[in-house]
Amino acid sequence: MKIDTLIVSANELVTMDTYGGRVPLRGSKMQDIGLVENGAVAISGQEIVAFGETHDLLSELEIDGDTRIIDAKGKTVTPGLVDPHTHPVFAGTREKEFAMRIEGKSYMEIAAAGGGILNTSRLTRQMSIDRMIANGSKYLARMITHGTTTLEAKSGYGLSTESELAMLQSIKYLDQTEKLDLVPTFLGAHEIPEEYRDGRADEYVELVIEEMLPFVAKKELAKFCDVFCEAGVFDIEQTRKICLAAKKLGLGIKLHADEIKPIGGAELGVELGAVSVDHLVEVSPEGIEAIASSNTVAVLLPGTSLFLGKGKFAPARDLIDAGAVVALATDFNPGSSPTTNLPLIMSLACTAMRMTPKEVWPAVTLDAAFAVGLGERIGSITIGKQADLIIWDAPNHSIVPYFYGESLAEMVIKKGKIIWRK
Ligand SMILES: [Zn+2]
Repeated sequence: MKIDTLIVSANELVTMDTYGGRVPLRGSKMQDIGLVENGAVAISGQEIVAFGETHDLLSELEIDGDTRIIDAKGKTVTPGLVDPHTHPVFAGTREKEFAMRIEGKSYMEIAAAGGGILNTSRLTRQMSIDRMIANGSKYLARMITHGTTTLEAKSGYGLSTESELAMLQSIKYLDQTEKLDLVPTFLGAHEIPEEYRDGRADEYVELVIEEMLPFVAKKELAKFCDVFCEAGVFDIEQTRKICLAAKKLGLGIKLHADEIKPIGGAELGVELGAVSVDHLVEVSPEGIEAIASSNTVAVLLPGTSLFLGKGKFAPARDLIDAGAVVALATDFNPGSSPTTNLPLIMSLACTAMRMTPKEVWPAVTLDAAFAVGLGERIGSITIGKQADLIIWDAPNHSIVPYFYGESLAEMVIKKGKIIWRK
């Protein structure tokens, strides 16, 4: 077999391959991140074809003059990061609302002054697909510098059939043209749009089910359907209706659940066989139990808690100790989490949610890959998986979350090719 690229002498290789890389690491197993010292990884085409200790690989493999050798002495090599919850296509920014929040203005006052999701929605509805693509592309370029190689990307600022489809089309275009992979999620039920706020929320739910979902499915514009299941947004019954319709059309399910009030979103997600339930700041003990006894991934978004200044974070420790599969995401969006920096989210998970510097690694690689339905293909350094790899300017895995707010990614490899270097 022809080896195209061989990374050698990594101080630490973080493989996630402890249990073969084909199942998520859950509960106490999140500590078993598969460290190899003085590690090497061999790539042929787009695939990982061997990994192990450097001297073993050098003696086993046939290396010729065409093989590119990358010396990772003193560095850490990990799978490419997967950001499993983002809203990267939107118009405008919301720094005015940021300032109002700091001044102590309430959500209602902010909404009255034209803030909130509906503000972004108003602007996004007027945006051309070309502008959506240009804006999204700018933010994806930032993500690469932090080591992200795959992200989930939601619609949800269009809130009309035409504008939701435009958002999904721009996400599809970005997936096809950009160096990163995007996993598209339809989030038509992100908020009740302005024109349905006169007590006609159920009519909007009907529009999502009868018009938007069939279009999305027919044009294959999304892999998942997500709903903002929350008090005052979409209740449990509305969420169930939308998700059952989406499942019938072959879409997987994700939920924004139990962020503000514990209304049972986590339990509903598990009941529906959702691939993930996200946020969970207020998840109930029953919700934790339900997640822990299922394959649904708990996607936690500590950047949102930090940026909203609420001081309360999702109970990561309780979830992990109960045996759940836990992933971390930026929740990149213009209102509540305008950061593309996933390593910063790892630091926050350590300091604010008491996840260990080991546990945060599967949460942004293997478990995050399962949260977007790609656990079989990416998320670990496993023979046969896609060669998405990061070389970090760090002697060990703990250094990455330790230097919080920094970006220590030095080289980003996607499908076997170097797509970015510092
Ligand atoms: Zn979100």
